[in-house]
Amino acid sequence: MTPQRMAILNYLKGNLEHPSAEDIYKAIGKKFPTMSFATVYNTLETLKQMGQIRELYCDPYKKRFDPNPNPHHHVVCTQCQKIVDLQDEIRIKPPTLTTEKFEILGSHIEFYGICSKCKSKNSSSRKEETIYVKNRTGS
Ligand code: ZN
Ligand code: MN
Repeated sequence: MTPQRMAILNYLKGNLEHPSAEDIYKAIGKKFPTMSFATVYNTLETLKQMGQIRELYCDPYKKRFDPNPNPHHHVVCTQCQKIVDLQDEIRIKPPTLTTEKFEILGSHIEFYGICSKCKSKNSSSRKEETIYVKNRTGS
């Protein structure tokens, strides 16, 4: 086990943020300034293949990583891409495949919505908008 791999694993241990490779690179870089982004990326790939971490596809902009090995579902904010674990046990029955021959490896439910931070941001910007419209119409 290389010190880099240790550092990445330690950073991910108990991490609930579902960080991207970039986030991990930025965080680890403080301790290992010579570590390249490619090393971080390749290490994450290795850890994924070893089954130590899971890759999430809920963020349309970048891959995100999850160190939680227990099967669980997620809720994603459509505005800031915050990903939060769901503790609820939701069981999905595997589909009966007819046309496409797939070997099912797993399933994952992704709920999407707006987190409380973005929600309050939205309502305050809506207020500003209202004030702006009011001023323009002179009322
Ligand atoms: Zn958000
Ligand atoms: Mn998770």
